[in-house]
Amino acid sequence: MEVKRITPRGYCHGVVEAFRIAERVRKETDGPVHMLGQLVHNTHVTEDLQQKGIKLVDPPNRLAGLEQIESGTVIFTAHGVSPQVKQRARELGLNAVDATCSDVVRTHDLVIQLANQGYDVVYVGRRGHPEPEGVEGEAPGKVHLIQDLADVGALQISNERIAVTCQTTLSVWDTEALIDAVKERYPQAEVHNEICLATQERQEAAVAAAKEVDVVIVVGSPRSSNSNRLAEVVKKLVGKPAYLIDDLPDLDLSWFRGQRVVGVTSGASTPSQLTRQVITYLESLAPNPDGSWTPAPEVSRVGASPAG
Ligand code: SF4
Repeated sequence: MEVKRITPRGYCHGVVEAFRIAERVRKETDGPVHMLGQLVHNTHVTEDLQQKGIKLVDPPNRLAGLEQIESGTVIFTAHGVSPQVKQRARELGLNAVDATCSDVVRTHDLVIQLANQGYDVVYVGRRGHPEPEGVEGEAPGKVHLIQDLADVGALQISNERIAVTCQTTLSVWDTEALIDAVKERYPQAEVHNEICLATQERQEAAVAAAKEVDVVIVVGSPRSSNSNRLAEVVKKLVGKPAYLIDDLPDLDLSWFRGQRVVGVTSGASTPSQLTRQVITYLESLAPNPDGSWTPAPEVSRVGASPAG
């Protein structure tokens, strides 16, 4: 099958830096080392770090997670944490190491600055994701999390000073639409679009490439915001089918029946060897007269479903 490798894809600077920090800390630190949530949202990376001796503590919120750590070192993940979490880690006597991505730190600093200047901050983000949780904690009561148009309609801010900003890993296009909706309600709102460059570049490349292929595969874990958004922008903006898979066994050959060219990209936290395996496998597919595809016998995969 013809495969179009979409670039840029895969690891961003924030993820690479978080690994560097975690591996250094594990090597140089005695006693237990924990990550407070997945260091980056990828199941394979998380398993690898656990095998290297970094324990995963993964409750629904970071403060609750800290209470499960009795001693040793805690690594704050690339998504950032609230000041309350940093404070609680100090109270518990834990050795805290911060692996927050510098792009997320910039958003925290922005929100602090705006709140100090008397602004209410409308923050476009995903409920339940650790990044908004961390940002909200920077200015409790001053940050208004919105996820969709209904949330914009429900906003009740009387402050003349309003700013709008966002999570770093959202869809560029959906976020613009929500920011526009906020501006319609509050024309005086100052806009600070904080989607990171890595997310923007991967989405723009996926959308451009999707126009020239029949179907797009995004390699990334279900919890990865930027990976989900990659599949979403292809479907919404280009109208092509896009599938998010954690790794090769998730591929379903029925997706390719009657298709000719597949585009492959991956999220910012996806190890490149996983994407390479997927590309090699797809390139090995040979067409059948009925439009289905058969993999070369030497390129097998665990859990492959029959040719569809
Ligand atoms: S996706 Fe963006 S914000 Fe997240 S770690 Fe990578 S560079 Fe940082």
